[in-house]
Amino acid sequence: MSWSLKVVRLFGINVYIHWTFLILLGWIFLSSLGAGQSTTEALISIGFVLAFFACVVMHEYGHALTARRYGIPTKNITLLPIGGVASLEKMPENPKEELLVAIAGPAVNVVIAILIFLYMQIAGLELPTTQLEDPSQLSLSQMFIPNLLLVNVILVLFNLIPAFPMDGGRVLRALLSMKYDRATATNTAAKIGQFLAIGFVFLGFMYDFWLIFIGLFIFLGASGESRYETTRFLLEDLKVRDVLMHQFTPLHAWDSISKAVDILLDGQEKEFIVEEDNQIIGTISRDDILRGLKEHGGEARLKRIVNPDWIDLSPDMQLNDAYAKMQQSRLSICPVFDENGELTGILNQENILEAVMIQSARRGEIEQVEEGMN
Ligand SMILES: [Zn+2]
Repeated sequence: MSWSLKVVRLFGINVYIHWTFLILLGWIFLSSLGAGQSTTEALISIGFVLAFFACVVMHEYGHALTARRYGIPTKNITLLPIGGVASLEKMPENPKEELLVAIAGPAVNVVIAILIFLYMQIAGLELPTTQLEDPSQLSLSQMFIPNLLLVNVILVLFNLIPAFPMDGGRVLRALLSMKYDRATATNTAAKIGQFLAIGFVFLGFMYDFWLIFIGLFIFLGASGESRYETTRFLLEDLKVRDVLMHQFTPLHAWDSISKAVDILLDGQEKEFIVEEDNQIIGTISRDDILRGLKEHGGEARLKRIVNPDWIDLSPDMQLNDAYAKMQQSRLSICPVFDENGELTGILNQENILEAVMIQSARRGEIEQVEEGMN
């Protein structure tokens, strides 16, 4: 979270803004001044961007608070210059619940748009056209409300494009999951999304460069989501105990970076847990060790470079849940504790990857047998 600034905490969820968002605001302010606007007008432009992002935050709260009803917590919402991201712990796997969580975001913008529309009717304001108004005819403050209506409509339309990573992709997947299993539904939704993405790129070359950008964004999102879901599908019946590693080398907080380098060179392990006074104080990856070596030298203690984040896993946990949590927190290794709180092993991304390969080979075997029988 070091790149993000906490702005507010509402309904138990922290709202962060990414520092690049501040650059966006500064850029808008300066370019407004550069275009010959007065300071007041430049501030109104900033105000508009803030109002727009407030709508985006409300959209994300729509997802987060609906997910909470189904027992899925959200740690935070982060605003990036390209939009908002709500870090839901996972998406509900029940199709009806997923449908409602996915649609709740755009639904918020529909409500906002209706409220603005009603206000404009009462106040006698003219509706926006998709054409840009001539700035000399309308002052910025007069355009503020109609444009806010327009961006909410765009938010709804954009998010309902039926392709991952847009909400529309999840809506499509949820609808397909009502008929097919989740992996099939995900793959089908991803293929439809990629087909649309290619269409966007194609249209982009003919009409508008931005469509190419949207197309590429969708194309990458669709394949990423499909890979994630296939992994989850393959890990479905496994528990953490099925794949955890009992053999590992714990490092000590007072060990030197050189010692970690030796162990790194000596065996297959790439990530380690770090202990101090028989307590785990964090984890360390190969990249951390190499960076530490460069910045602090080999004599420095691991305590200086340890990554203090990890999640306690238990052997009875569903492997899928452990995988989702590790992905969410971008962890490559986690300690596993038994019911007495004793460290019994570790789980890393490589264990999970191996389990995926074994499961997919097994399924291939089963399919071959089934094909042979037909
Ligand atoms: Zn959304």
